[in-house]
Amino acid sequence: MRQILTPNEPWTQDKVELHMHLEGCLEPDLWNKFQRKYPSLGIAPVTTVTYPFTDLSSFLAWRYQGDRLLNEEEDFFDLTWRYIERALDNHIVYAEIFFDPQAHTARGISLDTVMSGIIRALRQAEQRYGWTARLIPNILRDHPLNTAEEDLAHLESYGKWIIGVGLDSRELPYPPRLFRDLFDQARRKGWHIVAHAGEEGPASYIWEALDELGAERIDHGIHAIDDPILVARLKTDRIPLTVCPWSNKRLGVMTDLRTYHQLFQEGVVLTVNSDDPAYFSAYLNANFELISPYFSTEALQQLIDNSFAASFRTDF
Ligand SMILES: [Zn+2]
Repeated sequence: MRQILTPNEPWTQDKVELHMHLEGCLEPDLWNKFQRKYPSLGIAPVTTVTYPFTDLSSFLAWRYQGDRLLNEEEDFFDLTWRYIERALDNHIVYAEIFFDPQAHTARGISLDTVMSGIIRALRQAEQRYGWTARLIPNILRDHPLNTAEEDLAHLESYGKWIIGVGLDSRELPYPPRLFRDLFDQARRKGWHIVAHAGEEGPASYIWEALDELGAERIDHGIHAIDDPILVARLKTDRIPLTVCPWSNKRLGVMTDLRTYHQLFQEGVVLTVNSDDPAYFSAYLNANFELISPYFSTEALQQLIDNSFAASFRTDF
């Protein structure tokens, strides 16, 4: 199944994606389709080719407004299908896809509406292309804890589709330890644990994600570079980081792209991902392309291999 790497073309390789938010696949044409479908929401159309945000706060304002455009089963189907098409174009053979249940249930959208649209698309991809994915609901740091608890309890009924639980949204001022009970519950349900930490938050948030939540992968985690003892821990315990170069660049959270290579050289297990690809106008291959000047062909191959090894599938 997996091809041999040809020089300078890592993007022709089969790959796995581990850090991609489904709501982040709302490309401008889909935004406008739903904006026309739901005029009473009073949301303006996108009139530019790329979303015009400048930093994390303005990006999140766009993202959360985009979430409000997702209301019916077929909206979630269209969104998921768009990612599947892009995943096939990008030689992604398997993905563990993030989504934000509370972003929808807080607006009165039933979790069954969300899930049936997503799963219908995943089933169609499996039947048509043999393409598979699993889902990781993320707890939104800035939403009430009890709503996360309710949504996770509901998601238990979706069985095999849910492979883990994550933590996202603004890191500051929400340190991972605040969510310890929820992650203890998730672990008892048999789900894997991941968490966004060390993107805008400090290295101490990564320590907390590991020690308080039991995270098996850290999403972003780039601020580990500030703490040599943490780098050693990530290396020794082989905790993967799911880094997202275009996201970091466009949100200005990392100005020196050589940092990825520095972490890689220190022996940290890095994987490359797209985060919110429609908003950053960059799916997975574009992310590889961005960092390729800093990595040898062999190192790029290692990053690809890492994405298979870091997944929660056991048959790679
Ligand atoms: Zn993310």
